[in-house]
Amino acid sequence: MPDRPMPVFDGHNDLLLRLRAHDGDTVRAFLDGGAGGHLDVPRAAAGGFAGGLFAAFVPSHDPRAAAPEDALMRAPAYDVPLPPPLDPDTARDEALAMFALLRDAATASAGAVRVCATAADVRACRGAGTLAAVPHLEGADGIDAGLERLDEFERAGVRSIGPVWSRPNVFGHGVPFRFPSPPDAGPGLTDAGRALVRECNRRRILVDVSHLTERGFWDVARVSDAPLVATHSNAHALTPHARNLTDAQLEAIRGTGGIVGVNFAVSFLREDGRIDADTPLERVVRHVEHLLAHAGEDGVGFGSDFDGATVPDAIGDVAGLPRLVDALRAAFGDALTERIAYGNWLRVLERTWGA
Ligand code: ZN
Repeated sequence: MPDRPMPVFDGHNDLLLRLRAHDGDTVRAFLDGGAGGHLDVPRAAAGGFAGGLFAAFVPSHDPRAAAPEDALMRAPAYDVPLPPPLDPDTARDEALAMFALLRDAATASAGAVRVCATAADVRACRGAGTLAAVPHLEGADGIDAGLERLDEFERAGVRSIGPVWSRPNVFGHGVPFRFPSPPDAGPGLTDAGRALVRECNRRRILVDVSHLTERGFWDVARVSDAPLVATHSNAHALTPHARNLTDAQLEAIRGTGGIVGVNFAVSFLREDGRIDADTPLERVVRHVEHLLAHAGEDGVGFGSDFDGATVPDAIGDVAGLPRLVDALRAAFGDALTERIAYGNWLRVLERTWGA
């Protein structure tokens, strides 16, 4: 028998977008395997994927088609225009439908998948061999400026919110898919955005800065009393993409006891910013090394972007996580790799949500 894979808690996946794009008919395949994509329950078990933040992301394009940025991000330089704001009612309905699919999957899983609300839930799942799914809202486009709809999302299980995706909404401005570019690429939070951050603090909902502009990031840093969290972002010093974080941003994350989840999306890993899956594991190791140097050994985790991005062929899908874990062990040793793979995320969730 091979050794059991090292457990991983992951900061970001887009499984729910894939399920929603197929009108829910892959919930069974997610549980049993065979659906394609990056993530399903059998492959999660094989790869040690113990749980993560499961995003509801409402795309601006038809979810059955490829994302328009995918074609553009093969060029040597690119500046994908921000899509216009979503219709808030559509954004709300779509996101709530995705969270309903996650609950359906958990119900149909006979204990293999659990929707988690606390760090204790997540830890219990690890002990039981249950996949721990934390609902995350990627872009609060479906919440109104008065925050009245926040209750609906909390009732749907949401424990983590990114105020914006890479487009504008009433809360602020997202950072474009632009390469090369600094992350200071547009306005930050609106007054409603600051109010959303304060209200998330009060309700102990995690606030994710990953798709914010640099100005929006510093707005959150000024307003929030919780650890700063970038669920799926990389080091701008290594890949000068607008979606990546400067060393000053990483140091601010360290200063609050927060975390950055290293993103496996090749466009945020590669020196040339291009979508090309022929990207060695070494690039992930290099980013982790840089993130550790600036966000600290407590401040780095995984943020795979499985089912939402092109990842290195060397990882392939969730079953390939042990190959990355082995590369990290070779570079950083077992104890630190265990913290990067699982422990750091759990500490931040405990601090953010309360034990
Ligand atoms: Zn994202």
